Amino acid sequence: MTKPTTTNTGTPVESDNESLTAGAQGPILLHDHYLIEKLAQFNRERVPERIVHAKGAGAYGELVVTNDVSRYTKAKLFQPGARTESLVRFSTVAGEQGSPDTWRDPRGFAVKFYTEDGNYDLVGNNTPIFFIKDPIKFPDFIRSQKRLPGNGLRDHTMQWDFWTLRPETAHQVTWLMGDRGIPKTYRHMNGYGSHTYQWVNAAGERFWVKYHFKTDQGSEYLTQADADRIAGENADYHRQDLWEAIERGEFPSWTLHVQVMPVAEAEGYRFNPFDLTKVWSHRDYPLIEVGKWTLSRNPGNYFVDIEQAAFEPSNVVPGIGFSPDKMLLGRVFAYADAHRYRIGTNYAQLPPNLPRAAAVNSYSKEGAMRYSYNDASVPVYAPNSFGGPHADPSLAPDGGLWEFDPTMVRAGYVEHAEDGDFTQAGTLVREVLDDAQRERLVSNIVGHVLGGVREPVLGRVFEYWKNVDPDLGKRVEEGVLAGRVDGSTPPPAQG
Ligand code: NDP
Repeated sequence: MTKPTTTNTGTPVESDNESLTAGAQGPILLHDHYLIEKLAQFNRERVPERIVHAKGAGAYGELVVTNDVSRYTKAKLFQPGARTESLVRFSTVAGEQGSPDTWRDPRGFAVKFYTEDGNYDLVGNNTPIFFIKDPIKFPDFIRSQKRLPGNGLRDHTMQWDFWTLRPETAHQVTWLMGDRGIPKTYRHMNGYGSHTYQWVNAAGERFWVKYHFKTDQGSEYLTQADADRIAGENADYHRQDLWEAIERGEFPSWTLHVQVMPVAEAEGYRFNPFDLTKVWSHRDYPLIEVGKWTLSRNPGNYFVDIEQAAFEPSNVVPGIGFSPDKMLLGRVFAYADAHRYRIGTNYAQLPPNLPRAAAVNSYSKEGAMRYSYNDASVPVYAPNSFGGPHADPSLAPDGGLWEFDPTMVRAGYVEHAEDGDFTQAGTLVREVLDDAQRERLVSNIVGHVLGGVREPVLGRVFEYWKNVDPDLGKRVEEGVLAGRVDGSTPPPAQG
């Protein structure tokens, strides 16, 4: 037997079909509070979409540690044999909520671990690097990839203008324009913590660390032509694939690895190890296996579990800390701030964000939509003499330690021997990609530039690629100039 419909406060409802009117043709009456509740609730069904990573998909799973990395970290979730419940949200970056999953874009790879010491969030991407290395550039960068203020259109000139004026983007743009810029599905892509983090072992020794989730399904991609076709056929292609694979019992998994750098080696490493536009070569710091991470449960409710999920790099647990990576330090502030705006001050109470294996004994109180609270006997201030929670001074400072020169400056990263905006992009093109991959890279760049890059940006685009690799640059220039032979005119400049 079906249950009777009720209002939000549980009183039975007369009709789900007819509003209350004064006579069959008369006006609707304001005291039809159930109609008002329905319309008002409907008007408020959306929370603001994320400014970046608006379109996503997610699932629950588990990390099982298969190796012993306890000499590098005391974090409980990484101890041998540990099993930790986890939530992931995959996403595209620049598009809006309804945008096609198969647009060329990095993918977010945000993982939450519900550990005994509280939630640990590893908020990464499917790329080991990023476009910029200082958080002060983030709003500029994202705006340049989004929409023009006047006509609301995306604009390739604006994208390339930013990229070419900030050549530290070259490594990530090369990666983006290659095959991995459009993964076949969310299951067929690697994930990376991207930033350099800190691990601390039980003896207090510190290490720098980078995380790599290698897909067990194999790294596969879509060609630009297939991606364009699918974008028109099914905008939710990746979301659907993830959901259906899990429903079929085909649980996708990734093998989690780390690269570990002893703290003493950082200063002399050939690349600045805290620069987010660079990787640490596997030849210098080989991958060390940590465990198996498997997704096995779809969300019970997309809005509750995925749209309201709040991932924040500030969620670290004992044994894990931050590093001098400025982008990471900027994100440690920005994510929690974004959640407070988007889903409210008390977002940590929402089901996907609530710690599951750890108690919350916080002095936080009140604010909009607060429903968890301490017993009335718990004081609302610290310190106190009445048994309230107390902080543990034996823990390392939040986020770990590192040495630095305390002079205040606004400066770029200290350049190491092989640093340079184009070095690692060139390595990717010349040493990692094969001929067929390079061919597709050229074709993807040419197609993107022909999407409407105007002077004075166009000339800089050719220089940019010649700096990555002279032969690649020449082929891009030839391809673009040949593409212009048809007399096509780029769209007018947007004022
Ligand atoms: P390696 O040869 O040891 O590693 C190359 C890496 O490139 C592998 O992780 C591989 O991932 C990845 N790769 C393969 N094809 C592509 C592609 N089409 N697009 C992007 N990545 C791809 O060399 P190094 O570690 O010295 O790195 C050399 C270059 O490789 C770097 O400059 C960087 O551009 C790129 N790279 C490096 C990574 C790192 O963490 N060191 C990670 C990813 C890329 P897989 O094993 O899945 O095939």
